[in-house]
Order: sequence, then structure tokens, then C-alpha cells
Amino acid sequence: MVQTLRRQGRSVLDLGGGEPDFATPGHIVAEATGALERGQTHYTPSRGVPALLEAIGEKLRVENGITVTPATDVVVTPSAKHALFISLMTILDPGDELVVPTPSWVSYSSMAHLVGARPVAAPLKAADGFRITRRALEAAVTDRTKAILVNTPNNPTGRVLTAEEAHAVVSVAVEHDLFIVADEIYEKIVFDGAEHVSPATLPGAAERTLTVNGFSKAYAMTGWRLGWVSGPTDVMREVLKAQEHTVSCAAGFVQAGGVAALTRGADAVQEMVQEYGARRKLIVDGLNTLPGITCAAPEGAFYAFADIRGTRLPDAEAFAAWMLAEAGVALTPGTAFGPGGEGHVRLSFATSREVIGQAVDQIGAALAAGA
Ligand code: PLP
Repeated sequence: MVQTLRRQGRSVLDLGGGEPDFATPGHIVAEATGALERGQTHYTPSRGVPALLEAIGEKLRVENGITVTPATDVVVTPSAKHALFISLMTILDPGDELVVPTPSWVSYSSMAHLVGARPVAAPLKAADGFRITRRALEAAVTDRTKAILVNTPNNPTGRVLTAEEAHAVVSVAVEHDLFIVADEIYEKIVFDGAEHVSPATLPGAAERTLTVNGFSKAYAMTGWRLGWVSGPTDVMREVLKAQEHTVSCAAGFVQAGGVAALTRGADAVQEMVQEYGARRKLIVDGLNTLPGITCAAPEGAFYAFADIRGTRLPDAEAFAAWMLAEAGVALTPGTAFGPGGEGHVRLSFATSREVIGQAVDQIGAALAAGA
């Protein structure tokens, strides 16, 4: 839609995407370029190159408190998306149910359908700050449930799972003997001292949790397609088969870039997170000055999930359509993220301060003009 309008000569401020606008840090690019020049242009082991597996094992140990044996418990994948897909393909049989607290990222339910399973939403309440509770999970669990999928920091709500919420997830999973899939791709993008907790570290969780992560968001590497999944050895053996017989491996020179990302240049990530922090303030403060809109500051990721129920267009889809047509601002209706997203819209702040400031002004003008 944005492209169509742009082709028609309309100027559109795009706050709909989920892609960092920064260049991939230079030391990562240099490492991958060097690897290409050194001839790392062939298949690698399906699981991933040893240097990257080791770097991931070390990162999980030091940063997340997760202990793995890299040679058996990690699979490097071409993207977190593929890591999620082959994880779900491995643990879900046709007819199984996957409980997903919502609002949630759009691809989880499609992936569940693609493997013949059924996504079951556990809607969270805006009034409760989209907090995950035992009650919300229990209401969604049936005797067909095989797994619970959680995403922290969350796209689209910006919530970071608290230790208490993580305990709720793990205790329900243990009680009903379920897998947990934890999508932690935004873990490095957190604000105001929010602390990322990996569910796999909780008692009883390691043997049932698949932890997914990737390079797209923290390192501005969306186009590189690189991620990984770690988990119990027996499950990872099966995940590896799915990788072997679908994509074989992630590209070798891309994996070389991944090693550089994990082992060097933490400052580059910090600089990007600092800038996201400034943009977050700009967008949240700006939105909260607009009549009928309230927006809680996200604790993590790079999305503002604004409550528009006080405007004259409380329907999220109508609001988004109006803003695209009248304000020239692309944003995403909360309903795209499943039950619980009604009355909300998601605005990405992975874009420049200038675009954010202009978008807030244009939304304000459209509201004043009659939305
Ligand atoms: N998980 C979440 C919550 C996301 O928002 C995204 C991308 O938007 C992904 C996973 C996919 O990441 P990747 O680019 O590694 O496939």
C-alpha cells in the first residue's frame, strides 16, 4: 500500500515496518567481506560453523544464564523466522495447539497453520498492561496444547516479561507438560534499566524450552538472514533434520559476520539502542500530547503501541486507513496482532527523529481536522 501510494507520487511517512534504519556496523561487514574474499562461499555444516556455535554458546552463558553444549544444543539458521518455523515444525504435529499470548507478532499463527497445527490466542488485557497471567494461559490450554510461545521484549506491545510472568509461563508449561518457545530477538533493545529474562533459566524450564534469537534487530542485519535456536539435545537433533532437508545451512560468509557481531563491537549496539531510546521518548511524548491518544512507554523493542480509543476513530483498522489517507502516515492496526490489539495501533520508531516528529504532527493535524 505504501509503495502504491508512493508510486502515485504521494509522500508517505512509514511507521509500519519492523526494520532498523541503521547500517550494519562496519566490523561485521568487514568480517563477512573478508570471508567472501577468503572463499567461504560453500556449504557449511548444517548446524552452523563451529566458531559461531561457540560464540552463541558463550553469549547464552554470559548474557542469558543458559547453559548449552554448542555442538549438540544449538542450530544456526538463516533468520530467526526460520528458527521459529523449524522449531514449530519439530514440536507440533497436525492437530496440536500452540498457545500464543496476544497481541503477538503476525507470523506465529501463520507458522502454526503451515505445520498443520492450530494457534490458540491467550488474549491479554490492555487495562492490565498486556501482562501475561496464569489465568490467561490456563484459559487457552486444552488437552491438544503442545506448546506456549512467548516473545520478550514483545512486538507489538513493547512489554518485557517480568520474572513473575516468566514463572507463570513456566509453571503452566510444567503442569501441562508443554514446550515453551521463547522468541528473544529484541532482547538487547530495552530501556530504562528493564531486564530481559530468558524463560529457559527458570527451574524446570531448560528441558522444555526452545530459545530463539537472531541478528536482524540488535545488529541491523535484517537482510543477512541469520538467527539461531537452542534447546534440549533430543529436540535439537530433530530441529537439525528440518534444517538439513530444507535450507541446508546459513551462508558461510554471513555466519562469519555473525561471529564478529557476537564477539566484538558491543558499543555499536549500545549506540543504536541509545538512539532508539531518544526516538522512543520523542514518539511517546508526542503521541501523548494528541487528543484521545494515550501511549505507555515501551520497555523494549522499537514499537509504540498507542491506545486510540479516546479518539473519534476508536476502531484500529479505520484509524490506520484514515491516517494513511489523510495524514500520509503508515502505521499498523493492533488487530493485525490478534485479539487484545483492538483500539490500538503500532508505530515503529526504527526510523529517524525527523520522520517521527513529522508523523506525530501530521497525525495531530488529521485528528484536529476531523478524525
Ligand atoms: N520475531 C519477532 C518478534 C519479529 O518481530 C521478527 C521480525 O520482525 C522476527 C522474529 C524475525 O526476525 P528475522 O529477521 O531474524 O527473521
